[in-house]
Amino acid sequence: MERFRPGADYRMFVGGDWVAGSSSFEAVDPSLGSPWAAVADGTAADAEAAVEAARKAFPSWRKSSVATRQALLSKIAERIEANADLFARLLPTENGRPVREVAIADVPASAAIYRYYAGIVRSHRGDQIPVEDPHSLVYTVREPLGVIAAILPWNSPLITTANKLAPALACGNTVVLKPSEFASASVLEFVKLIADLLPPGVLNVVTGGPVVGATLAGHPDVAKVTLTGGGPTARAVMTATAAVLTPTIMELGGKSAMIVAEDADLDRAVADAAMGIYLANGEACIASSRLLLHASIADDFLSRFAALAASIKVGDALDPATQVGPLVSRPHFDRVSGVLSTARDQGVRVLAGDEDLLLEPANKNGFFLRPTVLHDPTGQADIVTSEVFGPVTVAETFTDYDEVVARANSTRYGLAAGVWTTDLARAHTVAGALEAGIVWVNKWFDLPAGAPMGGVKDSGFGRELSWETMLEYSAPKTVNIDLGAPRFSLWG
Ligand code: NAD
Repeated sequence: MERFRPGADYRMFVGGDWVAGSSSFEAVDPSLGSPWAAVADGTAADAEAAVEAARKAFPSWRKSSVATRQALLSKIAERIEANADLFARLLPTENGRPVREVAIADVPASAAIYRYYAGIVRSHRGDQIPVEDPHSLVYTVREPLGVIAAILPWNSPLITTANKLAPALACGNTVVLKPSEFASASVLEFVKLIADLLPPGVLNVVTGGPVVGATLAGHPDVAKVTLTGGGPTARAVMTATAAVLTPTIMELGGKSAMIVAEDADLDRAVADAAMGIYLANGEACIASSRLLLHASIADDFLSRFAALAASIKVGDALDPATQVGPLVSRPHFDRVSGVLSTARDQGVRVLAGDEDLLLEPANKNGFFLRPTVLHDPTGQADIVTSEVFGPVTVAETFTDYDEVVARANSTRYGLAAGVWTTDLARAHTVAGALEAGIVWVNKWFDLPAGAPMGGVKDSGFGRELSWETMLEYSAPKTVNIDLGAPRFSLWG
């Protein structure tokens, strides 16, 4: 597949205009390790201008009809699908997503999110509240909040944009998007495709680094900040929003445990474990980065899983034969390599992943890591509870179900978890006891629009992808009407 090449340097999108930055930064193709695009490096002033444009657009956009918003969201879904070929070249070039995954994951999942909100926007409504006084009519209307600042990560730019933009627009808010420095072009090319559908200022994009995100988070005219990112960023954002009393939605990291019982269908469990950790190069918040295997099947499972991992084709993200592409950047590659080296020092065994990558000469400067399977006999190594965000999973064994649930819950994270078993009672019991926002039974990575997505504990709060999300981007207003009640006067 041909690499994506932009026609010009990337600009920001503010108030309906494409604006140049005062400086720019280089986007690096992670398969080649070389620059491929220049992106405007936004400043605090650029972020302030975008908030002002969104603030000005809000009074009119909030009054747009439900039919207008429904049609808009449907058209966005159509444009994404119609440009699947563009994204198939762009995403692998920008963040190393294997090209074969774009058509089966990023494009259909993003389109489905816009379509989902296009559907439920018609059911977004308040309530009529039954009250004691027969002379009162009390009802609520759900109102948009205002300017939403959406701060995005780099790993799935189309999907994370959809998860924030679709419900925010559906509710009648205006939006400032702040893409990651490592996935700005994907967001900007998407916005180019839909810019003509939106009134100026309803959607704005400011590229750049933490200064842009921090300015948005601390801006008094921002009504809500929604972040998908890591814990340290979440703490910095919440410190900034505390100063201006702005509420937040936090979609953060995970260390998600897959529990495999002695009665599991091992063929399916091994295949799901591979998909759970190697899809998206393991750079997924919901990756199955931890395996808890019943001792009676652990050896069988691990020998099959290690053989499968060793057979995976690693290579250029644009090669249709590639199953696992490069990590997103040199700093991320160095961080993951450091985590692996500490794990080895702490006694973790490497079952797959240390071999030579045998890469094509062109890819020798890319950020490639072999799919890695680790086994921690003690369950005490740091890697058992910390997020790696790469194609690395660590296995432990267990014999008792109360104990395995306690171990699965022993991280600060609580995003996803799963159990593989053919015992119905065990499936429900373990699912009920796991501390996670999502629990899968005999499957992984299934995120249908409509099923709430989000975490507990340090994995964040708020829910995306669901009806509940419409409540995050709107507020109820109570209207309480006197229908002629007799009055008692306390003051004569
Ligand atoms: P990150 O936290 O480094 O960056 C996220 C965004 O925050 C970027 O746009 C960055 O520029 C911005 N940012 C950085 N410092 C900031 C500051 N001080 N103030 C405001 N904004 C700031 O995360 P990342 O490396 O881009 O993404 C990986 C992380 O995201 C992982 O931890 C992963 O688990 C998480 N993630 C979570 C979900 C989910 O739905 N729960 C989905 C995808 C990724």
